[in-house]
Amino acid sequence: MAEAAVSSRRLNQTLEELGRFGYSPDGMQRLAFTPADVAGRDYAMSLMRRAGMGVRIDPGGNIIARREGSDPNLPAIAMGSHLDTVPNGGKYDGSLGVMGGIEVVQALSDANVSLRHPVEVLVFTNEEGTRFHRWLFGSRAMAGTLEPGDLTAVDDEGVLMSSRLADIQGNMDRVQRAGRQPGELAAYLELHIEQGPTLHQSGVPIGVVTGITGRWVYEADIVGVPNHAGTTPMSGRHDALVSASRLVLEVQRMASELEVCRVGTAGTIQAYPGAVNVVPGQVKVGFEFRDLEMACLAAADAEIRSVAARIAARDGVAIDINRFESTQSAPISSGMQELVAAASERAGLAHQRVPSGAGHDAQSMAGITDAAMIFVPSVDGVSHSPGEYSTPEACANGAQVLLELLLLADRRG
Ligand SMILES: [Zn+2]
Repeated sequence: MAEAAVSSRRLNQTLEELGRFGYSPDGMQRLAFTPADVAGRDYAMSLMRRAGMGVRIDPGGNIIARREGSDPNLPAIAMGSHLDTVPNGGKYDGSLGVMGGIEVVQALSDANVSLRHPVEVLVFTNEEGTRFHRWLFGSRAMAGTLEPGDLTAVDDEGVLMSSRLADIQGNMDRVQRAGRQPGELAAYLELHIEQGPTLHQSGVPIGVVTGITGRWVYEADIVGVPNHAGTTPMSGRHDALVSASRLVLEVQRMASELEVCRVGTAGTIQAYPGAVNVVPGQVKVGFEFRDLEMACLAAADAEIRSVAARIAARDGVAIDINRFESTQSAPISSGMQELVAAASERAGLAHQRVPSGAGHDAQSMAGITDAAMIFVPSVDGVSHSPGEYSTPEACANGAQVLLELLLLADRRG
């Protein structure tokens, strides 16, 4: 039986109020570092203080709210997620994990429950990475895994991220100090919407996340020969767009038919010179593969390179495959999965194991502490869209499981 219970009404009201910051009829526009993001962060900090937490901002711009525990020697148990959205995004992605974490602390305070461990609620900076193409920025800063390119990142208008970081009281010159030492956190617990259809289809209210898939991202540069579309015979062409099309179909086939890896997607394409009366001389295709098993990503990498070589030889074009991002997968330990399952049972909710196809701050945090993730259903599996929706009941279920999980983690040795 629970010692404390979250308030569904209060949780859903805060989600609703938070959803006004950056709202537009075309979806949420609360991109990192924008005035809407700043306003949303201020709102979250006011709720944190109301729940009795001390609040600070680290040099990575991450908000760290803290409630002390009864044993001063124990490391903190953290809950958290992000408040920034993609353009035309939804109001549950990230927000549920933050509002859920605050609600858990508020519920503990209301019920006068004290824990052995300190508890932290974390808001990570720029999880989506929409503007500076540097995703998971805040959680990677906290995990100490920023790369040199993160410190000098500029947006499409040439504005340095360091200047925008100052807008949210971060400091790029001191960002390394946002890193936390192994042992400083006892665990990291993240509640999130599934963003996929598995739970919606099964009707199971709680997902026990088994791991976050690794993601390898590529640009293929295909160089053929530009020429007159009217006078160049079909047999003499080196059409870069035709070769690119073969490559796109292979990315799809490798995942769907050959099952080399779980998913493969070609999402961008540019043809040059970009005129219908010119045989395309050059094409750039952006694509990615994702899988929980890094060996599958390595197999996909080898396969697409040999496929590209075959296409190049056949079509008389040059194809250069450049992998420019390699995110490792982050398996969730069986012990933490068991703890989430036990928390669901304490909340009286059915659960099932699900992998996460989307990236999350938890994958950064898994590098420095025991991480766990709880998923709740996304209606129709829609996310990163104004149609993103999780029912008030689903959100409250997730927060109650987060509360039970925190209590179980607090009692662990
Ligand atoms: Zn998210």
